[in-house]
Amino acid sequence: MTLLELEGVTAAYGPVQVLEDVSLTVPDGGAVGILGANGAGKTTTLRAISGTVRAGGRIVFDGRDVRGLRPDQVAALGIAHVPEGRGTLGDLTVRENLRVGAYLRKDAKGVERDIDYCLDLFPNLQARIRSNASALSGGEQQMLAVGRAIMSKPRLMLLDEASLGLAPSTAKTVYDAIRRLRVESGIAMLVVEQNANLAFTLVDTAAVLETGRTVLTGTSAELKGMDEIRRAYLGG
Ligand code: ATP
Repeated sequence: MTLLELEGVTAAYGPVQVLEDVSLTVPDGGAVGILGANGAGKTTTLRAISGTVRAGGRIVFDGRDVRGLRPDQVAALGIAHVPEGRGTLGDLTVRENLRVGAYLRKDAKGVERDIDYCLDLFPNLQARIRSNASALSGGEQQMLAVGRAIMSKPRLMLLDEASLGLAPSTAKTVYDAIRRLRVESGIAMLVVEQNANLAFTLVDTAAVLETGRTVLTGTSAELKGMDEIRRAYLGG
């Protein structure tokens, strides 16, 4: 079943048209990547979905047109955005940040269970549970940003550049955890990732954007087999 469908999505910052025609689908429980050069519109596509930028076209989540909804309304429907730059709250502790992610939930026991799950998924956070987020390393902040998204019990997670600025071994740790999360939770994922080799360890299919348009979609195996994809995104 299709969980998210974008068809002919457009978006602009003021007079500058950034998305011209973005189309992609994410199956329920699936993981889909968005590839593209700097400035192709990957981040803006995620923003269009989460309601943080105004969009045109069709954005249908779980059978419902969500285009034009406010970010909090989109979040309440089960879409969690893990933004580039992570967006953790520096003055709050790790535990408080995780609680913030669960602010719409009423099931206190479930919230505690999911905090434990996050700490099991990211043991680094367990050791830092009382630290302010601002005191965490970049990798720990990324883990916390994913943890906070988990706490909202989403059906779809939008992940923007989860490996940005991280040492390779840390980036691998983060992606290993996200893969485990995917298997155990069934949360669908739409993933923007500069490091396509890393993205392909997670996603089943990907859409390639060029200057705000979807120019190609395919399975990971199909895309990895294409010379132009290898040259542009896979380092040879
Ligand atoms: P990157 O990997 O560099 O983040 P991207 O594919 O995610 O690239 P976007 O961040 O979506 O691309 O940006 C698409 C275009 O929109 C770029 O030309 C960028 O300069 C421009 N842009 C992004 N944010 C804004 C903004 N807030 N105001 C004006 N222009 C913006």
